[in-house]
Amino acid sequence: MDNVVSIKDISKYYGKSQVLKNVSLEIPNGSIFGLVGRNGAGKTTLMRIITGLAEPTSGSYSISGVSSKDKNILTVRRRMGSIIESPAVFRNLSAYDNIKLQYINLGMTSYDDIPELLELVELKDTGKKSAGKFSLGMRQRLGIAVALCGKPDVLILDEPINGLDPQGIIEMREILLRINKEKHTTILISSHILEELSKLATHYAFIDNGEILQTLSSEELMSKVRKSSRLKVSGAERLCPVFDREKIDYKIEGEDTVDIYSEISASKMVSLANEAGVDVISIAENNESLEGYFMNLVAKREGIS
Ligand code: ADP
Repeated sequence: MDNVVSIKDISKYYGKSQVLKNVSLEIPNGSIFGLVGRNGAGKTTLMRIITGLAEPTSGSYSISGVSSKDKNILTVRRRMGSIIESPAVFRNLSAYDNIKLQYINLGMTSYDDIPELLELVELKDTGKKSAGKFSLGMRQRLGIAVALCGKPDVLILDEPINGLDPQGIIEMREILLRINKEKHTTILISSHILEELSKLATHYAFIDNGEILQTLSSEELMSKVRKSSRLKVSGAERLCPVFDREKIDYKIEGEDTVDIYSEISASKMVSLANEAGVDVISIAENNESLEGYFMNLVAKREGIS
């Protein structure tokens, strides 16, 4: 099975408002699949549909090859763990008791591997402390442990990084990478900040206004994020004739600033600038940010619609 979840042409209306527009996605088995979109893009709605919390208006999806229209979907969906909106955590119970309760709900007869699960999410030293006294990051991690109780093949996490401090983000990232690697769990994770997913996702789908704008692997994304050199000069416009003649890919960013996308050496840049009678003040590497890439994609769509 190459794709553990396949989404085919899903649309969703709330009243007259269409919040998902013919969404099709393939989520490869073993991937960490980042669903990236601004607030209101439709990420939660899509996740609610896959987890069975909402019905699509049209279209279908399959999990492990079983169609959403097949009654066996209920059985395969048990192989899925999720945190949508907020983690299913009881604040008056300890981490251990939260997991034990989920084990009881799932009809599991042995609690032997609860310590291992607590260790996986770095909560093994929390003892009798109730979850209500946990930090947001700890509660999120406990939510993940609860979602993992049924040993799911797929974990669906809606904005699990939202609101976490930098340390909490690092801990969450490390835990998700470990779950993916050690338990071979496919993870579908959403965020409105691409940068936050970029250190863990293997695949991406960009969604805006209910539409998938692009899907690509992390290698493809990295190669698309354009590298450039930023030149600070005494007069950017005066460089144009020489740069045009040399067929250099560049963009004037200000009176004294020009970005060069062609691969040319610093000494060549300086000699061309000298030829144009322009002084070079500094040259710096300038990588387009991931956020910039995503915002450009959104802007392009808005430009054509
Ligand atoms: P995201 O998770 O990307 O922030 P959502 O899926 O939560 O986006 O929302 C997508 C759009 O659907 C938003 O415009 C939101 O207001 C709307 N929406 C979500 N749930 C409902 C609902 N139950 N009823 C009506 N509109 C909804």
